[in-house]
Amino acid sequence: MGSKYVQSFIGTTYKDIRKLLLQNEKVLFSGTPCQVAGLYAFLKKRYVGQLFTVDLLCHGVPSPQIFKDYLNHLKSTHNANVIDFKFREKPGWRRYQVIAKFDDNKKDISYKDTNEYIKGFLKGNFLRSSCYNCAYTNLDRVSDLTIGDFWNYFSDNVNSEDIDDDKGISMLLINTQNGKSLFTKAKEDLIYFAKDFQKSIEKSPRLHKPTKKPETYEQFWQDYAQHDFSYMLKNYF
Ligand SMILES: Cc1cc2nc3c(=O)[nH]c(=O)nc-3n(C[C@H](O)[C@H](O)[C@H](O)COP(=O)(O)OP(=O)(O)OC[C@H]3O[C@@H](n4cnc5c(N)ncnc54)[C@H](O)[C@@H]3O)c2cc1C
Repeated sequence: MGSKYVQSFIGTTYKDIRKLLLQNEKVLFSGTPCQVAGLYAFLKKRYVGQLFTVDLLCHGVPSPQIFKDYLNHLKSTHNANVIDFKFREKPGWRRYQVIAKFDDNKKDISYKDTNEYIKGFLKGNFLRSSCYNCAYTNLDRVSDLTIGDFWNYFSDNVNSEDIDDDKGISMLLINTQNGKSLFTKAKEDLIYFAKDFQKSIEKSPRLHKPTKKPETYEQFWQDYAQHDFSYMLKNYF
């Protein structure tokens, strides 16, 4: 559905899922690993064969307030409302093509080295505080399937059938029999290749350790309480 680099609003999702499961519906839930762990803790059972879960290799989730401030900043600098925001349009996987659409029909296109929000996200000053001690940045996955950016895809000899259209290549980890059954059903519709596991995970830090809390983190939030957003953009993003 398109990556969204901001903490999502879970709302009544867990309750809604329980209701569907009790009505014998099948459910697929995708989210951050901590959200999936939260779902299983809420349900108190795994509902194998009925509930399927997909998590992400997760850098951490940015503060929704910062994203809101950023949208307001775009609104004031462009003198128009943002009506759509794509964090990573495709093609543009590697360079994180960011597209903001405005209600005056104008578009702003930027990339990870020019977009302030993505630069700030990758620097890590405004992730949720628990992300720096994340319990899920390891190989002990909570979900049936895990997806992430497959950065090490081209490290070994590229097969002739391999593709690179900059629409992105996801790493897919099959963690459970439940996940395997889902993959078996879906694989005819996918272009996939099996790759060496150890080599594949080399360039995926979020399978090894949490994002490091930047030294500027405390100062960032102190300054945020005292200064306007333009000051923050200038000094931290
Ligand atoms: C907060 C956050 C942090 C993350 N941190 C990391 C990290 O540190 N490391 C890492 O490796 N990964 C990370 N990820 C995961 C990564 O960014 C991608 O989300 C993940 O690899 C999935 O990518 P994808 O291309 O499969 O899916 P998406 O990015 O969701 O793209 C899906 C694509 O499918 C298209 N689409 C949607 N519906 C249809 C349809 N009906 N028909 C045809 N096309 C359709 C969309 O337009 C889109 O192009 C993070 C994700 C989030 C949200």
